[in-house]
Amino acid sequence: MDELRYQLDLLKAMNQKLSGKERMYRLLCDASDDAFLYCAFDTNEIVTLGKWSEYFNFEVKENRDIIKLLDEVQEAYEMQLRDLLLLEKSGQTKGSMECRLKDGRIWLKFSVLVTYSEDGVPVDKAIVVRNVTKEKLQNEELRYMAYYDPLTGLYNRNYFVVRLGEFIKRAEAQRDVISVLLIDIDDFRQINDGMGLLVGDEIVQMVGSYLKEFTDENFIICRMESDVFCAAIYNPGGEKSVEKIHKAISERLGQGFMLSTGHELFLSVSIGVAEYPEASLSAVELINCAEIVMYKAKDKGKAGIQYFDAPILQEFLQNVDIDNKLKDASVSHNFEMYFQPQYNSSDGRLRGVEALLRWRDENGNLISPGKFIPVAERNGTIVNIGKWVIEESLSHFAKWKEKYDYPMVISINISAIQYKRKNFVSTIMDAVNKYKVNPAEVELEITETILIEDLDDVREKLQTLREYGIRISLDDFGTGFSSLAYLRGLPIDTLKIDKSFVDNIEGDDSSRVIIDSIVGMVNKLGFESVAEGVETEEQYTYLKSIGCDMIQGYLLGKPMPEEEIDKLLIKLL
Ligand code: C2E
Ligand code: CA
Ligand code: CA
Repeated sequence: MDELRYQLDLLKAMNQKLSGKERMYRLLCDASDDAFLYCAFDTNEIVTLGKWSEYFNFEVKENRDIIKLLDEVQEAYEMQLRDLLLLEKSGQTKGSMECRLKDGRIWLKFSVLVTYSEDGVPVDKAIVVRNVTKEKLQNEELRYMAYYDPLTGLYNRNYFVVRLGEFIKRAEAQRDVISVLLIDIDDFRQINDGMGLLVGDEIVQMVGSYLKEFTDENFIICRMESDVFCAAIYNPGGEKSVEKIHKAISERLGQGFMLSTGHELFLSVSIGVAEYPEASLSAVELINCAEIVMYKAKDKGKAGIQYFDAPILQEFLQNVDIDNKLKDASVSHNFEMYFQPQYNSSDGRLRGVEALLRWRDENGNLISPGKFIPVAERNGTIVNIGKWVIEESLSHFAKWKEKYDYPMVISINISAIQYKRKNFVSTIMDAVNKYKVNPAEVELEITETILIEDLDDVREKLQTLREYGIRISLDDFGTGFSSLAYLRGLPIDTLKIDKSFVDNIEGDDSSRVIIDSIVGMVNKLGFESVAEGVETEEQYTYLKSIGCDMIQGYLLGKPMPEEEIDKLLIKLL
């Protein structure tokens, strides 16, 4: 009897101990945020623990019921999840996977562990389910940041290059064409400087979200940097031809954007286009080619489009070459000054000379300033070159004055980049003083591009130069934007009427009417008029008849080295 009692007590104690352990396991599972399932195969007993009932609103009573979990996840995961949940069928011990639930918002990670007896029969199985939505989203966010531009939501530059690479692979196999468009907002810097960075951002965002509308499997677009976008069109044509897209963008941007500040802003873009396979076979090079021609489009004025072709590549390579040579310190040895005479139209007397820069490359060939000056302006070497031009011109001029004492004017071309320098006025005056020339005989030729930028600064410098007695001449008049009325307030002495007007004199009557009225107004406003590029007697006679003060051109004298000017001056003694 005692023996029996002892046996019973022992059993009770063991049961208590067991349920104490079970309680412990339950407690631990409940404290976790995960859901647990335990399955014993011999008894087909199933226990669900932890947050199981919060995750799933169905009961799992036997091993078969586990399959009900498949109804919870998106279809794409079903097959793989079935294999995992019934892991014992494959004889494996461990496995896990992440699945998205049907509502699309929640991600669950399923982990399964199966144990086997010595002879390989499955004994029991544990399934742990964990909500991994937060981690997933964080990863997505990181992925997003790696691929997308945060301001516009468009692809970023790196990802665009990857996607363009995919386009190229496809086009290579199917012998198709891709157009790469580099799209740059015109005058963006002025907007940014004038209206602030936030407005700039808002504009980029609005333009970006408009451009996004074109996106489909054959149109990709990214934000390259600041206000520059790059698009690629696979097999452009129909509604997605480059021309149609250019037109659509121009029209939309021209309608204006309403800013949150209440301002309405009308925009335009310049576009450079490079085509695969014509321009290049590489994604990065295609983008570079499109960039080169985008700058060309900008040079031609706002809202332009420019296609990449072989002559442009040639010109670009030449510019790179010029760029390298200009940066070479020894370059100044290859510069020379030429001088072109200007004459009074009334009596044919020599009025003065315009100093024109010449550059000989290492083979002795002359490179036209029209080619290298724009490059020198871009790479900044124009500042030093310009200083050399001023020194050289004034030193020759001082010699002529000393030798021949003939009253004349020396005209020196000044680039906008030079003019904008803080010390520009002192650079001029230092040279004037150094060579002891009369400031009233020095004329600076500036262009309208100077006037666009910072008018107050321009006016102030012009005024100071004027007070020193220096003359100011506006070059290439008529090719830019400025109206005569606008110039009235500026301290300018001379207007140089562009060669394109002179060329038209021999054309129809209407061209003559235009130049006639320009010269008439120039005179009325009190400026001196100089006609440039006069090549024929007919042009000369006509210009004289309408009262143009001065004539410059091949007809009367080409640009020439200093010795030739000496010969001209000797004859005047
Ligand atoms: P620009 O100031 O308009 O100079 C007049 C240009 O027209 C010169 O070309 C001159 O050689 C050319 N020309 C003069 N008469 C005739 C003519 O009857 N027929 C034709 N077809 N052409 C004529 P160039 O010397 O090649 O200079 C080109 C441009 O380069 C200049 O245009 C000027 O903008 C720039 N440049 C030249 N020298 C300098 C310089 O020292 N400094 C700066 N900043 N720019 C310069
Ligand atoms: Ca000039
Ligand atoms: Ca000119």
